[in-house]
Amino acid sequence: MTVLKRIKENLFLAIVVLAYIIMFVMNPAMGTESIKNSGYYIKEMLMIMPVIFVLTALLDTWVPKEKIMRYLGKDAGAKGVFLSFVVGSISAGPIYAAFPMCVMLHRKGASIRNLVIILSSWAVIKVPMLLNEAKFLGPKFMAVRWVLTVFAILIFSWISAKIIQDEDLPGEVLAQPGLHINRDACMGCSLCAKSYPALFEMIGKKAAIKANEPQSLDVEKLQSAMDACPVHAIQYSQE
Ligand code: SF4
Repeated sequence: MTVLKRIKENLFLAIVVLAYIIMFVMNPAMGTESIKNSGYYIKEMLMIMPVIFVLTALLDTWVPKEKIMRYLGKDAGAKGVFLSFVVGSISAGPIYAAFPMCVMLHRKGASIRNLVIILSSWAVIKVPMLLNEAKFLGPKFMAVRWVLTVFAILIFSWISAKIIQDEDLPGEVLAQPGLHINRDACMGCSLCAKSYPALFEMIGKKAAIKANEPQSLDVEKLQSAMDACPVHAIQYSQE
């Protein structure tokens, strides 16, 4: 029972291990080669990721939530789209380095659309990569591919934002600085949405902070919503 539970909790890892076992049984040479390749990438990740975690933590501390929300949030519009392209394009390092950064940005209020743009431009239109592309395949090839790729990213980021909601991502979204809803604890009673409907809403069976939340908080109403919450899932701290 415990083993099954562990497998369920680490399903992706279990699938990878199973794939290796099948590969070793069917083609031992290929299995050995795969292990070597995986070892190489794990070593590379172990060297890069600590630096990325430190950088992410520093950005988390230094860049205020209000700035992330203003420049990369849902209401940032064309400015947010442009900045997301810039952030993704000037970045350095492999794409997996972008994931912890994006988790931090999302937690601080960056929109799903802008995260998709950052990840996509990080992966396919990084400036150093464009220079190499122009050198080997010619500037015309690079320019046409760049323009078409930017259009594709714009379309796919828009579609992604329609399909993926904030609550589909792990972690909380800090739509209002200092205000947190612990979604894991939320039992969906909707008392907060009834107490302060301008700020809270129910999305599915969980409470969420409204996308167009009021600019200034009514602290009294917020306090009554917090008091009403039976599991104390709402926290607010003024910074
Ligand atoms: S009051 Fe608390 S438990 Fe009820 S919906 Fe709101 S956050 Fe969730």
